[in-house]
Amino acid sequence: MSEATFYYPQKMGRVILQGMEEVMGRNGLSGVLRLNSLEGIALNFPPASNERTFSFKTVSDIQTAFELAYGPRGGRGVALRVGRASFKYGLKEYGSMLGLTEMAFRLLSLSTKLHVGTNTFADLFNKHTDQKVQIEEQDNKILWHIERCPLCWDRKAEEPICHLAVGLIQEALYWVSGGKVFNVEETNCIANGGAVCTIVIDKNPIL
Ligand SMILES: [Zn+2]
Repeated sequence: MSEATFYYPQKMGRVILQGMEEVMGRNGLSGVLRLNSLEGIALNFPPASNERTFSFKTVSDIQTAFELAYGPRGGRGVALRVGRASFKYGLKEYGSMLGLTEMAFRLLSLSTKLHVGTNTFADLFNKHTDQKVQIEEQDNKILWHIERCPLCWDRKAEEPICHLAVGLIQEALYWVSGGKVFNVEETNCIANGGAVCTIVIDKNPIL
């Protein structure tokens, strides 16, 4: 099973590194990546190409580097911030194909925006990467299930560790809703023995 190798497109790897650079600066980024022998990608950022060759293992190794640099708690905070910061770079690469900036979308109700937004983002991952996402909608919650998760690829942990996805989803929902903040939490993680990684979104904003 962990023999199989899955990939992000190069430009999605680039998006993560751009988010990292915004949070920790170029030198900080190099230092953190060096801790897990990833200095090569710091020197040469992945190109903005669709070529699906940025391995899940590399994505996961970057998450491990956060922990090596800042400890589990500090690493979690940094991963959340990198996820939030990455969103706008992702939007630059993929925004025009999403159709979420059209006037028709902006006029929808909040709950419809959340429904359309989360499904659109899930489609993006499903169509353009080897990461598989399934959306499950409940009364007050949206469950974002990640099958084949790059963030915790080949990792073991006592608790959920896909913090970068949590930050990314928070920022995506802030943008989709025109400035509202939602409670987003990973409740289930493959690294912790789960069948999938599940990120739970409260449909009612906290702010
Ligand atoms: Zn995961």
